[in-house]
Amino acid sequence: MPLEDLNKLKEVLEKKEFHVVVQVAPALRVSIGEEFNLTPGTIVTKKLVGALKELGFDKVFDTSLSADVVTVEEGTEFLQRIQNCQNLPLFTSCCCGGVFFVERNFPHLLNHFSSLKSPQQSMGALIKTYYAEKENIKPEKIFSVSLMPCVVKKLEANRTEMQFNGVKHVDLVITTKEIAQLMKEKNIDLTKAKETDFDSILGEATGAGELFGQTGGVTESVLRFAASELNEKIHSIEFNEIRGMQGFREGKVSLAGRTINIAIVHGLNNLKDLLSNPERMHNYQVIEIMVCPGGCIGGGGQPKSTPEILEARRNALLKADKENKQRLSSESPALKKLYKEYLGTYGSDKAKKILHTQFKCIECKEK
Ligand code: SF4
Repeated sequence: MPLEDLNKLKEVLEKKEFHVVVQVAPALRVSIGEEFNLTPGTIVTKKLVGALKELGFDKVFDTSLSADVVTVEEGTEFLQRIQNCQNLPLFTSCCCGGVFFVERNFPHLLNHFSSLKSPQQSMGALIKTYYAEKENIKPEKIFSVSLMPCVVKKLEANRTEMQFNGVKHVDLVITTKEIAQLMKEKNIDLTKAKETDFDSILGEATGAGELFGQTGGVTESVLRFAASELNEKIHSIEFNEIRGMQGFREGKVSLAGRTINIAIVHGLNNLKDLLSNPERMHNYQVIEIMVCPGGCIGGGGQPKSTPEILEARRNALLKADKENKQRLSSESPALKKLYKEYLGTYGSDKAKKILHTQFKCIECKEK
């Protein structure tokens, strides 16, 4: 299957029958360097974009930008749920492994998931709608590739919910290790690639979007947004109370005059323990779910890791956030333009149609 996927990518890039675009998940920028003998945690974002252009992609987009979009949509949904005391705790829906796990093992809890598609699928959906319309390209003439730290994302891309009128949001998912292999085959040395920016229409992500690649990042990004929407005076843009690498962590944050209890879970056993205990689960208003150790930095498509390597990758994402000029998702220039020109307001009907979904139990889907 991985070889098949790489062969498919080579064919598409060589034949040039499609407009070939690629999106890059946040976790890759701090891990793919290891495949080229760089120290774990080296940030290679711009070199990676340069190397992908050398490989022949027409456009290179940043999944961190769709993570910003997910943040403002999920943050809006979270504030509504808190206000209406509805379907709490809210589960984050970015981790497709977590969604598959709950579908199979805890289907009665599916209504807790945020209705947002993952950043991978949100970017794919925006590519085949917003980008296609702006560039006047038929969606079926665009071949949308995603570079992911995750093997489960290959399954997510085939979900029936992740397409419009039979046109898939993401046509091909390639892992970190696979794209590194292709670069080596083509004699592209990542360390020598030209530093290049993401294509701005779906680039210009914030530090908050980059945080999605590690445990706690989705929640921190959403909390930053929620606090700013509520004009809350927060002590710092960094929510240190929920950071860390323990497989289960909890934190409290004060928002809108009430205390929000948060659980951050990564690793399947920790997730199973929490969801098996309804009383414990209902202690929280937000539960962030990531299946892999450390979140996507420890995904199954990443170069091999140890706890030290995971820590180095995590610290690199925290550094990328700190060094980003914008650290609040709603401040991304590309996101502002997207809403002004296309989606309208956060949670608009158009945003719902393109970016949201409904997770259904397997039996319900089969009916
Ligand atoms: S945590 Fe693991 S399974 Fe979940 S999206 Fe990230 S890489 Fe995939």
